[in-house]
Amino acid sequence: MSCAAARLPLILGELRLPTVKRLWATVAEQSNKENWPAERYLAAVMEHELAERETRRLDRHRIESQLLHGKLLSNFDFAAVPSVSKAHVAALVDGDGWIEQGANLLLFGPPGVGKSHLVCAIGNGLIDRGYRVHFTRTSDLVQRLQVARREMRLPAEIARLDRFDLLILDDLSYVRRDQAETSVLFELIAARYERKSLALTANQPFSGRDQVFPETEMTLAAVDRLVHHSTLFELNVESYRRRAAGMPLTIRQPTKKKD
Ligand code: ADP
Ligand code: MG
Repeated sequence: MSCAAARLPLILGELRLPTVKRLWATVAEQSNKENWPAERYLAAVMEHELAERETRRLDRHRIESQLLHGKLLSNFDFAAVPSVSKAHVAALVDGDGWIEQGANLLLFGPPGVGKSHLVCAIGNGLIDRGYRVHFTRTSDLVQRLQVARREMRLPAEIARLDRFDLLILDDLSYVRRDQAETSVLFELIAARYERKSLALTANQPFSGRDQVFPETEMTLAAVDRLVHHSTLFELNVESYRRRAAGMPLTIRQPTKKKD
């Protein structure tokens, strides 16, 4: 091995090019055999590095997202939810600009109808497209924000969530509704308004506003900001869980299959 080649592993390690470090010798062998011009060799190893970097990045994004495992569009049965158009969901995943605008996504419906599944599926699709997504139960996030506020670092904690293009708050309806909780959520909603998207699921649509956010002006202002630029899905069907368990509750109308 030449002196230059012997130093390569060290150099590539220093430069943090693990893929080139792993592949340079194999590609060099082929390159020498086939008399590649130097620039072709360089481009070939660098492209490998780039591709693996992208894969590692997406892996990291998937782990940090904490999306529910296995909840994908490919295993979401759209026929079960006639009010949700598959084409509309596909457009959201393709990022028809809503993420850049910091618009929101609201999913309402009783328990078991697929709100969490659908929102995670959309989140997964967005990660594939390079966006950063984070899923949390609303009550967990509220607790985290309350701790942050007690420690005088609420703005910093909210700012840290800015790294996520889409923050998913699951089960808004299960948050206990005292003033303290509502106000940390308000801070979050106000901070992200028209900048960073929120998706949230809840049992009650906001028409029964006081059911989601009680009393104060502040909470009405939160609802206003949430719905201003938003896509709304109402999943008013029977629980998929219950249906899957073969427990008919009502006679179902034949549903028209959406595209
Ligand atoms: P929700 O969040 O509305 O309470 P989930 O998303 O948790 O409901 O759905 C309950 C279960 O039923 C999950 O295991 C989910 O994957 C499944 N499920 C619900 N709706 C559908 C659907 N349309 N297609 C496939 N699976 C579904
Ligand atoms: Mg759910």
